[in-house]
Amino acid sequence: MKVLKFGGTSVGSAQRMKEVAKLITDGERKIVVLSAMSGTTNTLVEISDYLYKKNPEGANNVINQLEQKYRQHVDELYATEEYKQKTLDFLKDEFDYLRSFTKILFTSFEENVVLDQGEVISTNMVTNYLKECGVKTILLSALDFMRTDKNSEPDFNYIKEKINELLAANPGYQIYITQGFICRNAYGEVDNLQRGGSDYTACLIGAAIKSEEIQIWTDIDGMHNNDPRIVDKTKPVRQLHFEEAAELAYFGAKILHPTCIQPAKFAGVPVRLLNTMDPSAPGTIINNEFQEGKIKAVAAKDNIISIQIHSSRMLLAYGFLRKVFEIFESYKTSIDMVSTSEVGVSVTIDNKSYLKDIVADLMKYGTVTVKENMCIICVVGDLSRDNVGFESQAAKALKDIPVQMISYGGSNHNISFLINEEDKKSALQALSDTLFNN
Ligand code: ADP
Ligand code: ASP
Ligand code: MG
Repeated sequence: MKVLKFGGTSVGSAQRMKEVAKLITDGERKIVVLSAMSGTTNTLVEISDYLYKKNPEGANNVINQLEQKYRQHVDELYATEEYKQKTLDFLKDEFDYLRSFTKILFTSFEENVVLDQGEVISTNMVTNYLKECGVKTILLSALDFMRTDKNSEPDFNYIKEKINELLAANPGYQIYITQGFICRNAYGEVDNLQRGGSDYTACLIGAAIKSEEIQIWTDIDGMHNNDPRIVDKTKPVRQLHFEEAAELAYFGAKILHPTCIQPAKFAGVPVRLLNTMDPSAPGTIINNEFQEGKIKAVAAKDNIISIQIHSSRMLLAYGFLRKVFEIFESYKTSIDMVSTSEVGVSVTIDNKSYLKDIVADLMKYGTVTVKENMCIICVVGDLSRDNVGFESQAAKALKDIPVQMISYGGSNHNISFLINEEDKKSALQALSDTLFNN
């Protein structure tokens, strides 16, 4: 059974929901993961902010506006009075529920409940539409099987057991709908898989049921060779190895949630990226095949902090790197890039929650220099030793850009450059011009 995920724009209006319904009702049984309608999660974040700042009036205004928007979709989506009324009643309960948060003490638990409602609403609306069209459809609540562990990582064994149990207990349906993004945490509380997390939901389900294919339907024809929001003339990449796609997602290609490829890779389930606006376009297939001699794509990750530790005592001192890394570990802060010399080590991080403490601890070992507003540029493809010259082409493309760090050799799939954020656009354009457009 395939797992298909439709993102925010793909379910962004009544018309789009009808097109999704057309795409999924081809007679094959499938699991369909839906995001919230586009813009909704941002609006829910806005509502949470008002509630956090103890401004119930501000929250109520935004809730009422959002409710009006949703009520307008109802007339266009459903043909019968029965389903129109049923969905209006559902929306009334949902928005009354959101309004109830304006009357209580607002905590981070309630914040997660508020953020999760976008997916709850979109899945109910599409389920009602499919039922009205006579399709045998069931809505499975992601809160019944999607769970994270104490480290806030997906609890894969639990997810696998529960989703397979649910499918076995509900045979005979053509379409199984569920919410992307939303989950419970290790304490059973409502939580989520971070922004863009619906991709992660789809890949976790696909891996858990050993699906034949996971399809991520979005608003563009697959993974492009550079960020289309920033660079001109980007082109779709038709095939990526799991590792290449994982690097691109982690290093900023917004089309995929940063860690969603991992479960698909471990389970060996291919992932296909497809365009809801142009369903016959080929998109991108992500699988275990590795194409030799090709540089595939470039991505960029912002808000990076570089930390350089300079220590004359490091020279020939074994155990120095371990001590440095242990400091990051003790603050649960992961390191993206590393570069060493005899007198120092430079690393990058993207989480500055414990920056002050980390720096204070590192100062025991040497002089520490911190730079914020940095950007990692990641070039992905065949960078193996047999494929001589590609790393120098990438470096040559950046000849006019000040590069702070280079990381190469950690895998055969990528080379990363650390630059100032202000140089990102020119660096990405220069890489496209040199590597792809000549
Ligand atoms: P969805 O709501 O369907 O999850 P997203 O907005 O999260 O969609 O992801 C799709 C968007 O990702 C595209 O519209 C595009 O602007 C952006 N994007 C960034 N980098 C890339 C890339 N390398 N290839 C394709 N799209 C990219
Ligand atoms: N609705 C969530 C978000 O906007 C999850 C997703 O779309 O993947 O981040
Ligand atoms: Mg997304």
